[in-house]
Amino acid sequence: MSSSDSPLSFLLDAPKVSALTTDIDGTLCRIVDRPEKAKVPDRARRTLESLSHELAMVACITGRPALTARKMVGAGNVIYFGTHGLELLSPGHDAPRMMLEGEEAERARNFIAKHDNPLWVAAKIRIEDKGPIQALHWRGAGERTENFVREIADQAEVAGLDTHWGRKVMELRPPDMDGKAGAVSELITNGKIENIVFAGDDQTDLDAVRRLQGLKEDGEIKNLFIVAVASDEGPPELIEVADLVVAGSEEWIDMIEDLAALAG
Ligand SMILES: [Mg+2]
Repeated sequence: MSSSDSPLSFLLDAPKVSALTTDIDGTLCRIVDRPEKAKVPDRARRTLESLSHELAMVACITGRPALTARKMVGAGNVIYFGTHGLELLSPGHDAPRMMLEGEEAERARNFIAKHDNPLWVAAKIRIEDKGPIQALHWRGAGERTENFVREIADQAEVAGLDTHWGRKVMELRPPDMDGKAGAVSELITNGKIENIVFAGDDQTDLDAVRRLQGLKEDGEIKNLFIVAVASDEGPPELIEVADLVVAGSEEWIDMIEDLAALAG
């Protein structure tokens, strides 16, 4: 394969200042009804591991806790930026560095402890404890549950939390959280990255993309390539701003496999 065959090959032109960054759920694997059942294909693990030895950085940026993300993907030399930019797990470390501490880090959990009740279970709301972020999932439930979640969101905002809506999930977050946008800023600044590829499928990824576009306009990064994984549930804006749209996670993994083949 010649390097012109991959739109990502510019990363290999200057590998020491280049990063490949990717979301996990919906991007490296299919979204399933229960998040704990989601499975990243083994070929994705092999490919990311291999690319991590070629490039300055390979990072998975996810709404999952960083340790869960590492377990799911399984590549040891990769950076895992978990829970939307709150936990940075570097290769060789057993625990993530927390980007937020104190009362704000506990606020969402305290809200859940105070408000969770049997009606939530009856409405098929599932709570995912991500530490400073608490996620309410209702995949498989109907519109009535979504309306109920809207009421919970209103109460949470009164309690000083931010709410963030994704694909059949609503997250309660500490106020003024920078999310995946903060994660990409941190990675680029600390890693002295000039060329970056970012892939994602959801609203939180769009936050990161907007930040990356700003960094490029400011001259902080030289080359930026955005890959969007198409989905009926993702934001149309992500598709609009993407340099390339792929039909699903398998197609994104095909692309990084092609890049790894060029490198090796
Ligand atoms: Mg996703």
